[in-house]
Amino acid sequence: MAPLQKPPYVYMNGHITAWDDAKIHVGSEALIRGISVFEGIKGYWSYDNREFALLALREHFDRLARSALLQVLPFSTSYEDFQEACLMLVRKLLTKERDLWLRPTLFAVEGHWGLDTVTDLVITCYHQDKKKPDPIGIGISTWQRPLDTGLPARIKSAANYQIGRLARIEGRRQGFDDMILLNQWGRVAEATGSCVIMVRGGRIATPPFFEGCLESITVNIVESLCRSLGIPFERKPIDRTELLIADELALAGTLMELGVVNRLEGRKMPSSTPFLDRITDEYWACARGMRQNGAVRLTLV
Ligand code: PMP
Repeated sequence: MAPLQKPPYVYMNGHITAWDDAKIHVGSEALIRGISVFEGIKGYWSYDNREFALLALREHFDRLARSALLQVLPFSTSYEDFQEACLMLVRKLLTKERDLWLRPTLFAVEGHWGLDTVTDLVITCYHQDKKKPDPIGIGISTWQRPLDTGLPARIKSAANYQIGRLARIEGRRQGFDDMILLNQWGRVAEATGSCVIMVRGGRIATPPFFEGCLESITVNIVESLCRSLGIPFERKPIDRTELLIADELALAGTLMELGVVNRLEGRKMPSSTPFLDRITDEYWACARGMRQNGAVRLTLV
């Protein structure tokens, strides 16, 4: 895993700020209760290296607003101001050699138990290699995705990643790159930072939201790409045993992109992945501006 980068600039409190000055008080609810909601947004150079664009910016803004609403965090930034803040930071940090990943986070910087809450939109941004993800080996965690009445997966909150962190530590000890979390019914929920895409009998399946997964923007894109490619796509519960006999498997997320699973619980997956190949080819061609598809919306910088 890549070490955490410390790029020179961060967006905080309405301006570009030096990394070392981007501080939050130890008494804030952001720290003492882990109260924040966030997004991860990917920015890609075009195939000819002439244009740089953020993928699905509007969709990420809308999900951040939904997370803020559910977590009862005031969020009054307009889409236009959010876009400008992202673009301002990108312009400061962009280099020709690498792509970027932005992490806009809404922190509770003042307030107590939800009273008089004041939030700040902070954006950090990290460099990413311009390459497709390597195939990954994954396991199934003993940690469980909590219920919607406990720690709702639909809220992209920092607290939700405590279980994911434990699952990743468990997986690393066993030599896995990532872990799938099951829900309280023992069915597939999602991985620690991505959703599960399964191919069986020429059909693509992913668990519906009520199984305990984030409303993934990448999965929505995959669904639309499948429609345009004429590949059947469905959202249906997936048993652990069905996962184990999948024809092809991938993890889908903004940062993970489409990571093809080549080993599941230490067992080799079939090496031929014809359906995932078609979907990933289309995803990359659209993200890099080589082809256009209404499902892959790019905001040029
Ligand atoms: N589940 C979790 C827990 C995640 O952190 C992510 C990454 N945001 C996803 C699923 C995939 O969501 P998206 O495709 O919108 O990035």
